Amino acid sequence: MIFDLLITGATIVNADGAVNATIAVQGGTVAGLLAPDTALPDAVRTIDATGLIAIPGGVDGHCHAEQVTGKYRSLDTYASTTSAALRGGTTTILDFGIPADASERPIDALQRKIRLISENGARCDVALHGSVITWDDTTSAQLEQMAKLGVHSVKMYTTNRGSTMSDDDTIVRVMHEMARLDGLAYIHSEHDGIIVDRTAACADRGQVGIAHLHESRPRISEDASVREILAIAEYTGSPVYFVHQSTPDAVDAVAAARARGMHAYSEICPHYLLRDDSVYSSASPEMFACCPPMRSAEDVAGLRERVRRGLVDTLSSDHTSYDLAQKREHSDDVRHMPHGLPGAETRMAAGYTAMVIQEEQPIEDFVAMFSATPARVNGLHRKGVVAVGFDADLVLFDPEERRVVHAEDLHQDSDFTPFEGLELGGWARYVVSAGRVVVDEGAFADPGPVGRFVGQAPFSERPGVTRPAARVPVG
Ligand SMILES: [Zn+2]
Repeated sequence: MIFDLLITGATIVNADGAVNATIAVQGGTVAGLLAPDTALPDAVRTIDATGLIAIPGGVDGHCHAEQVTGKYRSLDTYASTTSAALRGGTTTILDFGIPADASERPIDALQRKIRLISENGARCDVALHGSVITWDDTTSAQLEQMAKLGVHSVKMYTTNRGSTMSDDDTIVRVMHEMARLDGLAYIHSEHDGIIVDRTAACADRGQVGIAHLHESRPRISEDASVREILAIAEYTGSPVYFVHQSTPDAVDAVAAARARGMHAYSEICPHYLLRDDSVYSSASPEMFACCPPMRSAEDVAGLRERVRRGLVDTLSSDHTSYDLAQKREHSDDVRHMPHGLPGAETRMAAGYTAMVIQEEQPIEDFVAMFSATPARVNGLHRKGVVAVGFDADLVLFDPEERRVVHAEDLHQDSDFTPFEGLELGGWARYVVSAGRVVVDEGAFADPGPVGRFVGQAPFSERPGVTRPAARVPVG
């Protein structure tokens, strides 16, 4: 037999350890891991990866593509966002079917995104989370329809009043449904009442511009909301995943819930590890306009400590392609600014730098958060591991290479990056996606519109989880 691709000489690092082997790829799948001294079989192409590290292709559990929220529209397409992701070593993204406004039904928002994945030429595999803003008497049936499409997770926001925010009744009902339908609730957790109150107080002092973003969304708003959502998850029996946790207390609350047997997961983004709230007094604070905002240096140190202890499950980009002009239109009032940062292309380098270079964690820890755990938690059975029978999604990189980040060198449909000027390691030299070499000696080799919509497994079929017993309300 002639293999499509052989990769020789690399050290393969999975989340559970490292091995030296030749990777043999056939038909988009890893077909063999051969001992390094075995005679090489025939192959269409052989890459000599001596000195490089091979890890499973990245799985970005939280990546917004073609986002439309009210009057805001991100500047990308599925073609461009997935190309940027591939350049940065991510071979699968999970995006969201968020209703564009109150008139769009959740199932229609989801089906619109499924259509756009092929119409707008995704370059890598894309899975989707559903999203519900307001419960009505059709929601339950819509969630059943989503599950039939292989969408077993639903995102809700506890903040953004008048836009994407769900009220408590909706959150409780949807989480009951997630328990019933064997799904997972994805929650953006910030306490809206606290944020509205604090932002009004800031506005009274004339401090509602971007330089005060972090003051208008204090850490206690996140900590309070996470505790509330955990209580609802415990009450309903729904597994719960917290996106972009930015405070040590929020991570600790999730870890404590997990320790008492709940299915609760903690996600972090690289910018919360590499930037602190001093950026809001910099010359371009709009480059850091995201929610939650960057936290204090002390919080960043506390977050890094939790990552080192293995309390954080996943590293996601929360990528959104807005540019500075869209941000600056509302620099004087953050209440009207589109929030979100580009990061699909830099997730690997930024996360690798924070964890492996700066904190000297084992590469295995990085692989767990970058690809293995996001694949497992999101029910993508063929992703996140370099092993026989898994998708041939691979990244090869030189652990010694360093580059200084400049937005003009990136491809994220934006004119800025929150990592501007930082020296980062962890840049992909080769990326293999579904068996195709799509980054070749550092250059993008466009595979064309081959990206597929992929479904998730139901929650209880995800390795390492058992279905939690639905709780009966007490008293
Ligand atoms: Zn997001």
